[in-house]
Amino acid sequence: MSWESVLGHDRVRRQFATALANDRLASTFLFLGPDGIGKRTFALKLAQTLLCPQAMDFHPCGVCPSCRQMLAGEHPDFEYLCRMPDRNQIMLEQLIGEKGDRDGFCHSIAKKPYYGGRKVAILDDADDLRHEGANALLKTLEEPPPKTVIILIGTAEQRQLPTIRSRCQIVRFAPLDWEEVQQILLQKDLVSPPDMAERLARSSGGSVQSALHLFGEDVLDFRTQWLEHLASGRVTEEGFIKSLQSFVERAGKEATPKRRRLMEVAAWAAEYFRQALAVLANGGPPPAMREFPDQELVRLAVAGAENWPGTMESMAVALDRCLLVESQVMANAHVVTLVESWLLDLNQAAHAKVPFYPSLATVSPLAQH
Ligand SMILES: [Zn+2]
Repeated sequence: MSWESVLGHDRVRRQFATALANDRLASTFLFLGPDGIGKRTFALKLAQTLLCPQAMDFHPCGVCPSCRQMLAGEHPDFEYLCRMPDRNQIMLEQLIGEKGDRDGFCHSIAKKPYYGGRKVAILDDADDLRHEGANALLKTLEEPPPKTVIILIGTAEQRQLPTIRSRCQIVRFAPLDWEEVQQILLQKDLVSPPDMAERLARSSGGSVQSALHLFGEDVLDFRTQWLEHLASGRVTEEGFIKSLQSFVERAGKEATPKRRRLMEVAAWAAEYFRQALAVLANGGPPPAMREFPDQELVRLAVAGAENWPGTMESMAVALDRCLLVESQVMANAHVVTLVESWLLDLNQAAHAKVPFYPSLATVSPLAQH
């Protein structure tokens, strides 16, 4: 399997190919971009390419012992580290081992390569590095052993610690085209039939992960209902607050899936307000909106801009308020309380005669959930 298995990101691939051909490949990279767009898949294929002794024109051969070991996940010169499923951060022991045992990611990187060539190491979930772990990693990032390539994978730049960010070459990954998302859903047999895959892909914002979150149960239908509700201009209705709360509650028994779902609902609303604002600012849908993959969202944003009872400024406040939900969720706010205060704030923004700024007091104190 060559690079054909990696959809999209051609520009980034060409950058790496050129750097390698000119012998100017950096040794530490930080991959950034939304979840579910293929950064890890890309990094793994890059590792295979860099490790394959018979790679031609930046394509790994796929059959040599190195490629076979890489594909089987047991290459001796490849290291991979991610957050453990039951932890919310990369643990210090994962990086430097227990006291004195010279184990962990940093020590493994320091060992001589088994094949005598390159070594490649991937640190996934770089968003979840904390100061202690980052400090342990700094020396390795600053002075990696010769012929070693270290790739950190994260999402947003502001979620990376400055000490890490400044020591890596940042590589940005853009969301996939909706056609690419559809192709991945169908090729990997994740979704069928094709028209369902298309509907999900168009609403996914270019992320396979988001498309899969929309799949199943009533998620896609709820999304439509939620956006229609926003577009109606009647942001708060007690019935709707309850139905949103119950939708979030249905995500799972544990707090994590509920939080993730609420963040997703907030992200849909933020995208909706972003589009509706563009309509208001332009006095109608700007031409670029015709290219937007989710035309249903565009249609609702156009209707919503007309129905919005407030001003353009108050809609910008509504958008900000939706973006605030993510940090509140991360701060462990109680999801049911959060939904209520969020919708009340949106309603207040919609009906504010003067620019309104939601008071954080309405959402505190935030109970642990
Ligand atoms: Zn090979």
